[in-house]
Amino acid sequence: MDKLIYVDNSATTPVSARALEAMLPYFTECFGNPSSVYSYGREAKKALEASRQTVAQAIGAFNNEVFFTSGGTEGDNWIIHSVCEQNIKKGKHIISTQIEHSAVLHTLDKLKTQGYEITLLAPDTAGLISAEQLTAALREDTVLVSIMAANNVMGTLLPIQALCHVAHERNVLFHTDAVQALAHIPINVRDLGVDFLTLSGHKFHGPKGVGALFARIPLVPVPFIHGGGQEKGRRSGTENVAAIVGMAAALEEGVRLLDEQRERLIPLRDKLIAGVLQIPGAHLTGDPVQRLPGLASFVFDGLEGQNLIMHLDEAGICASAGSACSAGGKDAPHVLIAMGYTEKLARGALRLSLSLYNTEQEIDYILDRLPGLVGSLRTKGR
Ligand code: PLP
Repeated sequence: MDKLIYVDNSATTPVSARALEAMLPYFTECFGNPSSVYSYGREAKKALEASRQTVAQAIGAFNNEVFFTSGGTEGDNWIIHSVCEQNIKKGKHIISTQIEHSAVLHTLDKLKTQGYEITLLAPDTAGLISAEQLTAALREDTVLVSIMAANNVMGTLLPIQALCHVAHERNVLFHTDAVQALAHIPINVRDLGVDFLTLSGHKFHGPKGVGALFARIPLVPVPFIHGGGQEKGRRSGTENVAAIVGMAAALEEGVRLLDEQRERLIPLRDKLIAGVLQIPGAHLTGDPVQRLPGLASFVFDGLEGQNLIMHLDEAGICASAGSACSAGGKDAPHVLIAMGYTEKLARGALRLSLSLYNTEQEIDYILDRLPGLVGSLRTKGR
């Protein structure tokens, strides 16, 4: 292969041509500050509101339920802190899961130091959380349930609609981190019933450093970043207009191409899974059926995932051992440990995540190279 093969789309995606084209004028001729009253400003404001409408439509929300953020991490931090502040009289108990992204888990760790009690539900061996588990964990003083829609390490899809129903039956608010799910599976906030949802532009061919938070009317989040009162006083800071426009264009395109994505990616993913499982000591992680269309994830007996990633890199293949956040470190993905894998096995993780830009030829190349790399690493005892 002459060019690099990029199969780490769960970490980030390349910006689509359409998103880039939509963004470009907002760096140059349409550079105005949306808060300015003259024409440059009005033009930027118009683009901002059109983008809000595009994002709202893509998730089945009203325009004024969408707040722009700097990405998934901010959205998760913001809404968890906001719900705590608004429900201080009700209690200090939050329910989440052991397989959340660190944007949620570390926020909850911080709240623990402020007297909050956190219940982290344990997944089953496929990474699923059941309605019964949630029912058993809910308490009178529970203020929030936060459960991700799709897991970033092994791609399992969580039953958000059913879990949200359980929380609402007990009058508890429900947030879902849909960063990995949006524009990969159909997401409609009304069908799911969620009160809050976090999304991030760079996971669906939009730019990095931009995202959005959905908050169901009349549940307005309390300000987290203070200043000039942008986003109706809820999120201060001059809006990143170009990035917001690019994210909206990418989201519109991603949602429009959902069917095509399913049809193209599932056969590629399943070919990859079937091929990798031919390698002795390779195991699929996550639910075999309830999983993201483009995500194939494995653990290998007797192997360090990080070493495999480095050798794949030398072969021109960009992949990851788990989440991008742990890619630099030697930690076993906490998600796999929570699912019952031993630390040793979890350290042998490999995640291959596809996008519409991947081809069958690339899958064939990976399947051609991977067995030899695994074999030689095992021989060297790594
Ligand atoms: N939540 C999940 C499930 C993620 O996978 C990520 C990023 O990998 C984030 C949150 C953080 O999003 P961002 O990179 O936009 O801050």
